Amino acid sequence: MRKPFIAGNWKMNKTIPEAVELVAKLKEFVKEEMGEIVVIPPFTALSEVKKIISDSKIKLGAQNLHWEEKGAYTGEISPLMLKDIGCEYVIIGHSERRKYFHETNEIINSKIKIALKNSLKPIFCIGEKLQEREKGETFKIINEQLEKGLSGIDKEGLKNIVIAYEPVWAIGTGRTATPEQAQEVHLFIREKLKKNYGNEIASYAIILYGGSVKADNTYSLIKENDIDGTLVGGASLEAESFGKIIEEAWRAFRDKMK
Ligand code: PEP
Repeated sequence: MRKPFIAGNWKMNKTIPEAVELVAKLKEFVKEEMGEIVVIPPFTALSEVKKIISDSKIKLGAQNLHWEEKGAYTGEISPLMLKDIGCEYVIIGHSERRKYFHETNEIINSKIKIALKNSLKPIFCIGEKLQEREKGETFKIINEQLEKGLSGIDKEGLKNIVIAYEPVWAIGTGRTATPEQAQEVHLFIREKLKKNYGNEIASYAIILYGGSVKADNTYSLIKENDIDGTLVGGASLEAESFGKIIEEAWRAFRDKMK
């Protein structure tokens, strides 16, 4: 059974004291049974946040990594460093990295491979741009991102990958995909995984939705069959709003199981 999975991507926000305050408050909302909860602070706050969550069920993730383990890559962070600090997850392929840092599907594939090699679980983001949706190309783009991003990844690898469907037009815009729009793409992703990896692995795969998720749209998204959780940006920056999203996800999951 797939339990809810809620991850908060803080992006380039929060100083160390702010991060510590946020995660300390967040702990009050998180109950043991509530599925997987992941906070993804900026690199500078990872170590201090790790200390605060070490007595809770909250897991730690990073926002990026380099595709090599070490070397002359000034300014970059390696998978070894993330492991060292206590990260379990790492976001790979976020649309902001694709857009501003020109990350291609091939670079993303290399990053997924090095993450898995170092026992970091990728949160692999895919999603179409508005023009692509309007041209009816959503499934073509998703298909291509999955094919190239997961090229060479075997069944064991896939078990450790979380996929996040994040339509680019919904990220940070306040414009959420409707539950039906999201479900349609999630189903497409699961069917594709079925074809490439078999029924069992596909039925266990965690597929998140991301794009302007808030407490008041979480329930209807998670109620959909193939939406297992959410990757949250803006609304994860306050403990109350992120905490409410976690509670709403848990409520939807329990209703879905009835
Ligand atoms: C994100 O950055 O992954 C995201 C979904 O952001 P927001 O929730 O702010 O749209």
